[in-house]
Amino acid sequence: MRELALIEQIRRDFSTPRSRTVALGIGDDCAILRPPAGCEVLVTTDFTLEGRHFRRDLHPPESVGHRCLARGLSDLAAMGATPMTAFLSLALPADLVSTAKGRAWTTRFFKGLQALASRHKITLAGGDTAQSPGDAILADIVLLGTAPVGRSLRRSGAHAGDAIYVTGSLGGAATELATMLARNARASKISNTANHPQTFPQPRIATGQALLRRKLATACIDLSDGLSTDLAHLCTASNVSAEIDAASLPLHPLAQPLGPDHALHAALHGGEDYELLFTAQ
Ligand code: ADP
Ligand code: MG
Repeated sequence: MRELALIEQIRRDFSTPRSRTVALGIGDDCAILRPPAGCEVLVTTDFTLEGRHFRRDLHPPESVGHRCLARGLSDLAAMGATPMTAFLSLALPADLVSTAKGRAWTTRFFKGLQALASRHKITLAGGDTAQSPGDAILADIVLLGTAPVGRSLRRSGAHAGDAIYVTGSLGGAATELATMLARNARASKISNTANHPQTFPQPRIATGQALLRRKLATACIDLSDGLSTDLAHLCTASNVSAEIDAASLPLHPLAQPLGPDHALHAALHGGEDYELLFTAQ
């Protein structure tokens, strides 16, 4: 019964602001999607596992919901896609559904997810809800987006001689996480989600779409694991190598006070910045 109440709550909170691409959302056995003519569908899926991707004692619940969706949106951004809808499979420990305190966590989780979803005009079209076999919260989100047939940005199109660009700045997410770990307590409430690269990363959907529309990028990837890892992925896929001048890396304002060596380390290896890395002629 509790599970049904939760699904009902999800359905209410995510009630579809009439969508042309989602013909049928939550409530039946399947959702029905109608991608626009001339478009193909892009699909990405991401786990959000307690203890692996977030800590309940460090990340506010709104942040966990936000990040759950942000990771998938960033993958869509990397390919220049327009987000269509999301599906969320959620395994919650019993107390998160049965106790008032637990339900408050769940409500705040969905609040964070909903805020980012409405900013990008997407809805949840379905999912699954079950009791977690242990104490951990497990979430798996599937995101679908659309792009004109054959036009999606890929990792594989970079050529020797291309310039390398990143959006925004790097190292912020790792620095904010280090601050949270040092404080070893959760910020009870983050009211302004701006400039919180770890807790509220902002996926670069509009930039990805612009790169696709204007045919600016030869290759593109999102920075989830860190520049050092993700640039290597792009290079492998494109069969090229890359050279970076450390002085030209845009360091996040949060990372700058760490001093040049630590800031550079955060920018190269920190990860979770969810910026776009792309190449252009
Ligand atoms: P079934 O057993 O037929 O799969 P469910 O009772 O699991 O149906 O789900 C009922 C409806 O609620 C479906 O439309 C499903 O997609 C949706 N739903 C269930 N859990 C979630 C969730 N965590 N997020 C979004 N939609 C959900
Ligand atoms: Mg089900």
